[in-house]
Formats: sequence, C-alpha cells, structure tokens
Amino acid sequence: MVVRRDSAVGEQDPVGAKKAAKGTKVTAAKTSAGTPARKRAAAGAAAKKAAPPQAPSAKNGSGHSPGSESRTALVRRARRINRELAEVYPYAHPELDFENPFQLLVATVLSAQTTDLRVNQTTPALFARYPTPEDLAAADPEEVEEILRPCGFFRAKTRSVIGLSKALAAEFGGEVPGRLEDLVKLPGVGRKTAFVVLGNAFGRPGITVDTHFQRLVRRWRWTEETDPDKIEAAVGALFPKSDWTMLSHHVIWHGRRICHARKPACGACPIAPLCPAFGEGETDPEKAKKLLKYEKGGFPGQRLKPPQAYLDAGGIPAPPLGAA
Ligand code: SF4
Repeated sequence: MVVRRDSAVGEQDPVGAKKAAKGTKVTAAKTSAGTPARKRAAAGAAAKKAAPPQAPSAKNGSGHSPGSESRTALVRRARRINRELAEVYPYAHPELDFENPFQLLVATVLSAQTTDLRVNQTTPALFARYPTPEDLAAADPEEVEEILRPCGFFRAKTRSVIGLSKALAAEFGGEVPGRLEDLVKLPGVGRKTAFVVLGNAFGRPGITVDTHFQRLVRRWRWTEETDPDKIEAAVGALFPKSDWTMLSHHVIWHGRRICHARKPACGACPIAPLCPAFGEGETDPEKAKKLLKYEKGGFPGQRLKPPQAYLDAGGIPAPPLGAA
C-alpha cells in the first residue's frame, strides 16, 4: 500500500492547529485596536484557516449548519478525511477472525450487541464443532446456545446461525451467496451484515453502517440522515464505489480508537482540522491521549500501544517498518 504524506503537517497536527489558532487570535486582537482593515481581514483569514472548521458546534450551538458547506466542499472534505484515516490506519481490516465466507457471515451475525473481541473468543469452539453450514444446520440448539452464551442474546443468535445454515444448505448448496439480494433473505442477515460479507469475503464494494459509522458521519456533517439505509446512500454518493469497503474500515477503526461515543479524544485526533465537531470531546492533548484505545487489535505495527511517533506527531504515525 502506498502511504501518502502530501498533507501539510500543521493541518494534520491538532495540537499545532490549536496553537496556531491561539496565536492568530492574539494577532487579530492586537490589530483590531487600530491597524488598517486589510490587516485585520488578513489576520481573520489566518485564524479561520488554522482553526478546525466550524469547531465550536457542540458546545455553544453555533458552528456548522448543513447548508453552510457546498456540495463540492463536502465531497472534498469527506475524501480528505478518508485519505487521512488511510494514513493513520493503513492496515484497517475487519476485526472479526474468519477463514472463509461462512465463518465471516456467522461471526458478523454474532457480533450484534457485543464486541468483536468477544466473538473472536467464541467462534473457534463453534467452528471446530460445526465447520460447515450442513454441520451447523443439523446441530442441537442447546449445544450451540452453550457455546454462544458469552456473546449475549445467545438464544436468538443460535436461532439465526442455525436458520441461516439451514438456508445455505437447502438453497445455496452449502455455499454463501455473493449477491446482496440473496444474503439479505437469510435469517438474521441485514444489509450491514451482507455488506461486511460482500466487501471482505467477495471483494465487492459495500458500506457498513454500524453504530460507529452512524455516529462519526453525523459528527463530520457528511449527512443528517438517521436511518442506516439512507446514511449508506448519502455517504456512498460522496465516494467512488471502489472506496466503500476501506472507507467503512477506516471510519469504524477511528470510532473504536479515537472518536468514541462519550469521550472523543479530539486533542489527539489526526483529523481534527477537518472535523466540524472538534471540541465535542477532550481537546487538551495530554488528557486526550489518555482516552485513546488500542486494545482491540492494536495499532498498525503494534498490538497494544500506539507508536510513539504517532503521539509525538500529534496524531499521524510514521509508516510501520516495511510499509511501501
Ligand atoms: S475525535 Fe473529535 S475531532 Fe476527531 S473526529 Fe471525533 S469529534 Fe472530530
């Protein structure tokens, strides 16, 4: 993968952006006391450039309104965010463990209302005991329930995975179909699950609108929609189809590691200069670093801790060794 590094460091560095914004504010205040209007306008423009776009929206209710950004500007900003995230998460991938489409399908169904980590701890026993759709279709539900108990909602999930296995065995010759319209007919399989399978097991572009995706695209003002299908359509229209699968991974990885639901780590966020919701979370860089989460799959090149270079650069990590 080619790691792009064509962005200005100041824009990537929320700490630097903050300092720059602070500095230009002082300049603007001084000039307002009696310098020519042209200088005041220049200082104002510099401050606007350095600060995150429409930054204070969450705290004071002013800030970005959906109508204040042109369609072209929105498309450019959205694609820029995706490019920046691609640098931060060059190895983003589905965090569910799987070896074939059947395992990915089952694991994705099991991941509802629980963590991928929990699913990954559960599925080895399930697939060792029932390696094929035919095996799982013929399983004793009580045995499957016992295996799936740690995933929560284990009775409903047992019904779903046995039901979809029966359908695969009866209607698709024991193979997972590679078409959206077939996948969504399987018990317990919605569009989100179908797109995960299509994108990651069949290489067909799809947008995965999970809870992280919904939260982040609203924070970024990519769409005002709240219905997952409408979000999928709105965000899909901002990107070429070929970007959809990796875009989904980038957004979800960012939501899991930095832009959390309750305490987004804005002060350590590499896309802060592009985010209208900057300030919704902790903006102090040192406090924000403590909010970063890496335990689920770790950071590129490291399992448990972020690379020091990432933190030193205020967000953007150096490419891992061996990266092209
Ligand atoms: S962490 Fe803060 S600045 Fe970064 S994307 Fe989330 S809301 Fe925006």
